[in-house]
Amino acid sequence: MTVLPRLDLAAIDPAGTGPFADKEAAAAQLAVDAKAIGALQDRLHAEGTRALLVVLQGIDTSGKDGTVRGVFGEVGPIGVAVTPFGEPTRTELAHDFLWRIHAAVPRRGMIGVFNRSHYEEVLVVKVRNLAPAAAVERAYGQINDFERLLVETGTTVLKFMLHVSKDEQRKRLEERRRDPEKRWKFNPRDLEDRGSWDGFATAYQTMLDRTSTDWAPWTVVPADRKWARNAIVADRVRKTLEAMDPKYPDLDWSGQEFSVP
Ligand code: ADP
Repeated sequence: MTVLPRLDLAAIDPAGTGPFADKEAAAAQLAVDAKAIGALQDRLHAEGTRALLVVLQGIDTSGKDGTVRGVFGEVGPIGVAVTPFGEPTRTELAHDFLWRIHAAVPRRGMIGVFNRSHYEEVLVVKVRNLAPAAAVERAYGQINDFERLLVETGTTVLKFMLHVSKDEQRKRLEERRRDPEKRWKFNPRDLEDRGSWDGFATAYQTMLDRTSTDWAPWTVVPADRKWARNAIVADRVRKTLEAMDPKYPDLDWSGQEFSVP
């Protein structure tokens, strides 16, 4: 395994804007990138041999849903499959933690987006002590092996950690409570998790240290400014699809003797 540069959460400013000077510049680039992602997905679908999996992780209010809307809004509804992972059901708990995940990975030709993912096993499960420590410890290697299997069988894996500050989360949670159109999203459990802020920060850092691999690297995305967050993710998704360079099948019907009635 190649040693990747360490992603140090404490050194990454959640209010950062990446390569974008201001909101206007980011919005303009996002519009271009979102369209390009739509066109590239069409080629991926026509080619039909490979898939892209985009994993979104981040604490409550980090903007996972908003990222999906902003980045994949130009992909036709048939081309992208978004799967949210909440608390496991009884059936899911009766299996290994990757069972429900593997069932949801994108089929060839598709972009799959995970809103939360198998990483909950080394985040919420670890912080709330929902499984024995030894099982969590084993999960890092199991995740790396699983992602390697996906990559070796034709699925490119991109992982984004949406990095929001404690102060910005307070603002967003308060807004959720106040705004009648956002109140439905408010869950007292979110406050409990906020109470474990340091535990989650440590678990996220360990996750980055142990699961950022050369076959499935993490990108830490500053998420205090929604416009920067979306533009940074879109830029990475577009560049990844461009590097995959999916091609329309080279079909030539010109020598065939038939006419369309
Ligand atoms: P979100 O907060 O992502 O908008 P929900 O309100 O449905 O969506 O919350 C999902 C909840 O499920 C989160 O609190 C998350 O920590 C929890 N969750 C996800 N995966 C697991 C898991 N494997 N074990 C326990 N809890 C999980």
